[in-house]
Amino acid sequence: GEFSLLAPLHPMAAQVRPKPASLGRWVIVVSISLGIILLAQNLQRSSLHLSSITARGISSSTYSTTNAHPRIAPIAPTNRYRINLQPRNSNKRSKAFRAESKEAPERKGPDLLEFPRALNKFTHGTADDPFDLLVVGCGPSGLAVVDEAASRGLKVGLVDPQPKAKWPNNYGVWVDEFEALGHDDCFLRTWEQAKVVIDEKNTGGIPLKRAYAQVDRNKLKTKLLHRALDSGAEFLSGAVDKVDHKEEDSVVITQDGQELHAVQVLDATGHARRLVEFEREFTPGYQAAYGAVIKVDSHPYELDTMMFMDWRDDHLDSQRKAENSKLPTFLYVMPYDRNTIFVEETSLVARPFIPFDDLKERLRQRLNHMGIVLREVEEEEYCLIPMGGVLPRLPQRTLGIGGTAGMVHPATGYMVSKTLNQAPVLVDAVQAQLRERQKLESPSMFNATAASENVWQAIWPEEDRRQRTFMCFGMEILMRLDVLTTRRFFQTFFSLSQDMWGGFLSWRISSLGLLGVGLSIFQIAPNQLRFDFVRQALPYMPSFVKNFAQASNEFDSSAWAGIYESLANIYSIPYGKRDEETKTVNGGISGQNPTEKPILSSDLDFEALMRGDDFPPPNASRLVESKREAINILDSQGIGSPPPKDLTVSLPASKLTDDRDWIRFQQEKTFPDQEPIASKLEPLPPSSSVDVLVAGVGPAGLTLAEKLAARGLKVGLVGPESQFTNNYGVWYDELQELN
Ligand SMILES: Cc1cc2nc3c(=O)[nH]c(=O)nc-3n(C[C@H](O)[C@H](O)[C@H](O)COP(=O)(O)OP(=O)(O)OC[C@H]3O[C@@H](n4cnc5c(N)ncnc54)[C@H](O)[C@@H]3O)c2cc1C
Repeated sequence: GEFSLLAPLHPMAAQVRPKPASLGRWVIVVSISLGIILLAQNLQRSSLHLSSITARGISSSTYSTTNAHPRIAPIAPTNRYRINLQPRNSNKRSKAFRAESKEAPERKGPDLLEFPRALNKFTHGTADDPFDLLVVGCGPSGLAVVDEAASRGLKVGLVDPQPKAKWPNNYGVWVDEFEALGHDDCFLRTWEQAKVVIDEKNTGGIPLKRAYAQVDRNKLKTKLLHRALDSGAEFLSGAVDKVDHKEEDSVVITQDGQELHAVQVLDATGHARRLVEFEREFTPGYQAAYGAVIKVDSHPYELDTMMFMDWRDDHLDSQRKAENSKLPTFLYVMPYDRNTIFVEETSLVARPFIPFDDLKERLRQRLNHMGIVLREVEEEEYCLIPMGGVLPRLPQRTLGIGGTAGMVHPATGYMVSKTLNQAPVLVDAVQAQLRERQKLESPSMFNATAASENVWQAIWPEEDRRQRTFMCFGMEILMRLDVLTTRRFFQTFFSLSQDMWGGFLSWRISSLGLLGVGLSIFQIAPNQLRFDFVRQALPYMPSFVKNFAQASNEFDSSAWAGIYESLANIYSIPYGKRDEETKTVNGGISGQNPTEKPILSSDLDFEALMRGDDFPPPNASRLVESKREAINILDSQGIGSPPPKDLTVSLPASKLTDDRDWIRFQQEKTFPDQEPIASKLEPLPPSSSVDVLVAGVGPAGLTLAEKLAARGLKVGLVGPESQFTNNYGVWYDELQELN
């Protein structure tokens, strides 16, 4: 497997390249034209002109109203790429692993901000005096909305289990994005530029002349809290259980049974997605990353440049390299000072996600290769971000923002800037609805359902839904690219103008502009990339064209618009465990969503791993570099048990015989179309003497024996009574020449 996986291109691929590339161009052009025609038709139907589609707030009648309420099902981290080398009878525990793997991983309580000021307690929220807006969740999204709404004089309350907890995530943003939001006072560190390294050939990388920053999350949260308190926002510590919607208002019920009334309720619970309902089942992709702030002896990074992506993989052992060729990861680095760096091994998007321990091992090999000597791990980050999938059901009574409302960029995992941008848009819409309410003779005449619909339309207008569909489409393709194509893609992407790549990353390009980005990439891409792209894009093209044109919310990971899946369901064809594993389920069963709570640890202890105490514990699997290593490991454990009948590598070292088991296995195969060789030849009597004794009765042995015998030599053949075990393919003329 090692060799075939490492082969950069199948020879066939080289032969067929020119044709599919030009075919692909036509497919793309035809599909895009079709998309534009459908789009134009759709816009015509809504009496709009093409030039107006970038405007926000276009009212839409394309919202669908199914009642499904899926949440994310658990995802079994895959270990299919690894060899299980575990002894069955060893009690040795690894120092690199945390104590008992079966116990829940250590979870620290929330780390609190230094925020001595008391939070305003709830005074509103009763049936007689409901909040205008009740926000659930005190992440960046929820708090930004509370700040904005309170500053406009709305009666706003926020519920979170711990409103003063520090935000757990390490946010990186582009400086211009945060400047535009007025939060450039909340940078912890900035870098004048960023860079992307594609491969070993150009270690200098592609410079990105755009400043990048690490957000001072404590400062930003403190600032927003102070402002919200100054404007009269109220806070409650508690976890919300559910929401009941009534005709004119809603009642939020906390886990300890409190009932809180509000005209509008906003779910800002991030990827926990506590309250909003989803259009239907969906299969997100996942960005998984293991990051650590590490103290080191020295490192090679320039302090004014952050490493946005480093796709090199020459540091990986052969097995991991083979894995990486299919599921590539890159390194993201924020250099703090000469001895401190934040390093993050990142899988851009995969389904199912790459397990954290795998990411740690990849990171270890990378740092070792660079000669980086670790002194201490200061801080760790376990990043798991669901990406893509369908949006929440549009419209619905509960409002949503941030992670819960599909605002994560489906092709990058970034979200903070987009959400902070959307907070005033949402508050504008809520405020407009409240003004209408005030004009009514009695609050009981208020149609809260219609009001919610207007708010949803403001935060997910048709134009934004089209952009998101484009990005989800891009995500599906990215997820399927091997490392070579991924590299070719980013090489091409970052050679676009900064307006284009920057606009794409920051949701700044209109939907038609995004099509232009797609075409530009296609135009400058090398033929191989065009071919690979078209090949990966085709299955998603019908769904993309339909959803893009209609600005609908149905694009997800179903290839061929789900036709195969539907057929598979009808005829009970197994259509691939990979998708089955990650299918979401209806109903909000808590604990089934892998991103419901922040992840704070994984089995492997990175510091110990870097020290070299990396022998895996029982029941864990690990990749070995060679059979010799496997033998050494097993020998060191003194394992002795009878050799298994199957051909797994969990053999005791003493019983490992080079390839013999495999040969035995081959020889046991029987083929009904062949008679045993012994039935064709005279037996060689014991003690007989021959000129040549040929050992082995495969094609080579038999051919040789035949040629020798034809020259009059006395030939003996020795071998088991086996047949030719392989199914040979040859060129016809070759065999003809050989008679
Ligand atoms: C590790 C990590 C790193 C990331 N890095 C970046 C980055 O660099 N840049 C970027 O743009 N994006 C990043 N993201 C993506 C995204 O920006 C974050 O997920 C972001 O925190 C989402 O913000 P949010 O306010 O929607 O949700 P969250 O920040 O998750 O906040 C949700 C809040 O809801 C509360 N809550 C949950 N359940 C309940 C309940 N039942 N009742 C009441 N309250 C509840 C939680 O306690 C929490 O306070 C990252 C995500 C992760 C996980």
